[in-house]
Amino acid sequence: MGDKASGSVSISSTKPPAILADSEHFEQQQLATSCGYSQHMQHANLGDGAATARLLSRSDWGARLPKSVEHFEGPAPYVIIHHSYMPAVCYSTPDCMKSMRDMQDFHQLERGWNDIGYSFGIGGDGMIYTGRGFNVIGAHAPKYNDKSVGIVLIGDWRTELPPKQMLDAAKNLIAFGVFKGYIDPAYKLLGHRQVRDTECPGGRLFAEISGWPHFTHLNATEGSTPVPIEPHAHPQAASQTPLQLPPQSPPHAPAAAPKV
Ligand SMILES: [Zn+2]
Repeated sequence: MGDKASGSVSISSTKPPAILADSEHFEQQQLATSCGYSQHMQHANLGDGAATARLLSRSDWGARLPKSVEHFEGPAPYVIIHHSYMPAVCYSTPDCMKSMRDMQDFHQLERGWNDIGYSFGIGGDGMIYTGRGFNVIGAHAPKYNDKSVGIVLIGDWRTELPPKQMLDAAKNLIAFGVFKGYIDPAYKLLGHRQVRDTECPGGRLFAEISGWPHFTHLNATEGSTPVPIEPHAHPQAASQTPLQLPPQSPPHAPAAAPKV
């Protein structure tokens, strides 16, 4: 039985992942992605049989052109997982395409960024949507934007687990990135919350990816390093405003009475 016939998800770096079933199209797809933003990329089949997952191009979801594109040298040593919080989970491809457009609108028009912040989006339809793509500097995780692949699982995953097709698509995308040399075979998998003050990717999803290969615990010092205050790539839940700390009394000496 060849690899092509295998329906299992492999994230080995030595064996082609299941998503490579249509490798010829992949070559075309990835060449276009790595060179910037072709608006005429072809569909690529990312799976086999009924569980087919596909990598959709920017033109598929109607992306606006980026204001500019900056590349970094690969392979990326980090993969960072996000949830979108908003938009909510989408289950049809037209809805997920709209979600990608909404996120691009938010990042590009409201935040003023070059493009949608993420490298890739994953829909509840099990499809993979090209964001900035591989080896393009993102806007999703300060200090990691020039050395990571940022993958957003569209939806709010604080208490619910994303459906299996979403998780499989994310794993397949990572495996594909490793196989193609865009992601370091010794990559570290992180949740967004490990590198900044955010609940992202949601508690339930974070618990899930904590069990995936290559998940890495950052030490407390590294994980709590202050980062520049800049807008998040995704909206925050109302309860997640850790930057708004309540006033604190000085650790020593009572606070001086205000002079009036
Ligand atoms: Zn995030």
